[in-house]
Amino acid sequence: METRPIYDPGFATDHVLVGGTWMKTTGSLDLTDPSDGRFLARIARGRAPDIDAAVAAARNALEGPWGQMTATDRGRCLSRLGHLVADRIDWLAEMEARDVGKPLSQARADAAALARYLEFYGGAADKVMGETIPYQAGYTVYTLREPHGVTGHIVPWNYPMQIIGRSVGAALAMGNACVLKPAEEACLTALAFARLAQEAGLPDGALNVVPGLGEEAGAALSAHPDVDHLSFTGSVPVGARVQGSAAQNIVPVTLELGGKSPQLVFEDADLERALPFLVNAGIQNAGQTCSAASRILVHASRLEQVARAMASAYEDLNVGPALSDPRVGPVISTRQKDIIESFLAKADPDHVIARGVLSDTAPSSGHYVLPTLLTGMRADHVLARDEIFGPVQVVLPFETEEEAISIANDTDYGLVAGVWTESGARQMRLAKALKAGQVFLNNYGAGGGVELPFGGVGKSGHGREKGFEALYGFSQLKTVAAHHG
Ligand code: NAD
Repeated sequence: METRPIYDPGFATDHVLVGGTWMKTTGSLDLTDPSDGRFLARIARGRAPDIDAAVAAARNALEGPWGQMTATDRGRCLSRLGHLVADRIDWLAEMEARDVGKPLSQARADAAALARYLEFYGGAADKVMGETIPYQAGYTVYTLREPHGVTGHIVPWNYPMQIIGRSVGAALAMGNACVLKPAEEACLTALAFARLAQEAGLPDGALNVVPGLGEEAGAALSAHPDVDHLSFTGSVPVGARVQGSAAQNIVPVTLELGGKSPQLVFEDADLERALPFLVNAGIQNAGQTCSAASRILVHASRLEQVARAMASAYEDLNVGPALSDPRVGPVISTRQKDIIESFLAKADPDHVIARGVLSDTAPSSGHYVLPTLLTGMRADHVLARDEIFGPVQVVLPFETEEEAISIANDTDYGLVAGVWTESGARQMRLAKALKAGQVFLNNYGAGGGVELPFGGVGKSGHGREKGFEALYGFSQLKTVAAHHG
């Protein structure tokens, strides 16, 4: 049993940031490196009193220099932060790879996406405008877009940098003061982000960070009576609890939840173009991606061809330690590994048509799950309907366009869908018929798209983050009606 952490990112990891000051809490939690199961770093165990202090600091910031700052200066501050992130990509990528088990090049892409979010929202901060509204004679009516006030951000462990970028980045651009509760499984880059924000000159209290357990710090933040807006990214059951807390306080909540997203391959699809998207969107981040394409629906005439091509691509999927930059890294925890394996135990052996390959360098103490490609089951099989959140894809046949739509829409979720067809008319029909917050035509953007509004329907959640749309979500509209005769 190790007593000392194996990694030093260059700052004290066991502190919370409240009102510009890094402080110790009464307890701590230990992070594990998913690649080898070793003791990675010690973090603070924030609880209700720490959340109270963070919310109070955020409220104070709204009354102080942060609240007085012009939109242009807020934007400049975010742009400076984006440049600092871009300058430290290697540092952040190594931290994320160790903490999440994400292959190094994927972690680099996440750090670059964080920089891009900050660049995007930095540039957009002073371009969100109200409207003038034609009204009765003698009136001038206009709208103002104002921040909610204190916003709470509860994020998961799978894409910490990207989710912080899209959520905290947009909230700060609109002038909110944020309290961020990162996940207890992985939160080092959230702490690094906060340190860079200080370096960029973000006023004290505009961003407060309190790591801790979901049922302690997370529950305290979502139930806090002085929080004006909640942004939650995570599982459906916890999302329901957060929405319940928001309902008690009558505050708006954005829920970014799970998915069982399909890619539909029609008889006229360009398979050479589609193949990398079909596979990557299922195994990226070891399948621990909300928008993972875990269902591949294929016209029956091409089922065998697609299954064979995907199976052959799976043979090249090497699974190994994150820092060796394999195609597939470990999953986050032994708990997550157990969940995925219990799903796989529900498949018949003859459903499995391909698996990835474990690298010789993968320590037996790491949390490795071999990517698994399945076919031959019914569309209502639990593996074809439930979110597994691991590197598992199911290939299913369809005969007609109507059947394809019906299978694609037959889950509780509706996050993302992909369609592969050369027919423009079919693309347009499918874009309308599919139950999803995003539809990709002849491409598939799992996890990407800083500029593209993102969010779900059904149990995938509600509200939109990313793109300009997020700025509307992180602000509220005030209507001003002036009577001047
Ligand atoms: P989770 O719901 O267990 O945890 C997410 C966050 O909620 C963590 O910070 C956790 O500490 C916190 N939390 C846990 N219990 C809480 C409580 N009672 N009150 C308040 N906060 C609490 O989710 P997870 O297992 O870590 O993440 C995986 C899920 O997240 C998957 O379903 C995945 O699809 C989803 N996800 C969705 C998106 C999206 O953008 N739609 C992105 C990433 C992940």
